[in-house]
Amino acid sequence: MPAITHPLDQIMDEKGVVDPHGISADVFAGRLRNMRQSTIGSFAICPTRVHYKQVFPDSYGGSDSTIIGTAYHAGMEHVLFAEMIGEDRPKQEDVYVIVADAVDDEVMKCGGIELVSWSKMKSVDQLKDMACRLYDFRMSHELIPAGYHIVGIETTFRMPWILGWAATGTIDLLLWNERQGYRIVDHKSAGRAWDTNKHVKTPQPHWYAKWVRAALETIGHDSGPIPMDFEVMTYAGKYERRTITATEFTEDLWNDKALIAAQSMTNDGPWFQNIDNNLCSATYCDAWDWCPSGQAYRIATK
Ligand code: SF4
Repeated sequence: MPAITHPLDQIMDEKGVVDPHGISADVFAGRLRNMRQSTIGSFAICPTRVHYKQVFPDSYGGSDSTIIGTAYHAGMEHVLFAEMIGEDRPKQEDVYVIVADAVDDEVMKCGGIELVSWSKMKSVDQLKDMACRLYDFRMSHELIPAGYHIVGIETTFRMPWILGWAATGTIDLLLWNERQGYRIVDHKSAGRAWDTNKHVKTPQPHWYAKWVRAALETIGHDSGPIPMDFEVMTYAGKYERRTITATEFTEDLWNDKALIAAQSMTNDGPWFQNIDNNLCSATYCDAWDWCPSGQAYRIATK
């Protein structure tokens, strides 16, 4: 099958890294800090969470849901890669091995099963079973939207942002067709169906579209708006594709929030605590044990 040629190809290396300004060396050497959509999103939820992640980076283990998500991604990546290079679809049992290995790796990275933060599952076998089931559920639906080609899997972009910072991100799946241009896809696994507006409240579609467009501009290509699909697969087997398209307004809005986050991270504060969010709990906040608000809540509810 002939390779698909598309504009971003000109500035994407063989590892799928888009770095038209050649800043990767500065990022790896620590001369530039990374601003990622996950940091912007965490800061918007609660600045103190970002602070503690900086202070205790090694104390952030994984949870059962993040392990399932990572293993499910590993299985999907394997299938999508075969699709991208025009090979036959991998056998189900081979994908199961990849998924199970990814669960073992993630548990090891957490430091063992005792250090995994458990909320819905109870054992490593349950993690493997759920990640394989998510894969099976997902594969019973269309793999990619009709008419598109896969042109990138785990595509990383690195772009100069403000002084001392790079704008970075890794895109699960990048699609393209000649008529409609690019499309960004993110695979999400979820314990339950997403709330109606969940896809609207995250910086990801706006941060990714902004920088993919900016990278394309460096080679004189005007991509126009780039939509993003959240492919949400729930533990109960419900699949949903939610699409959102960034606009100049939403890109500026999240860029402003990113600037505030970068300012606090550069100056080591201010670090406001936002207890008025659904994730301010022992289950959903890794900073719970250190954060004064978490401690105060524990005392108040003893
Ligand atoms: S416990 Fe609540 S206030 Fe403290 S860091 Fe977590 S989310 Fe923020």
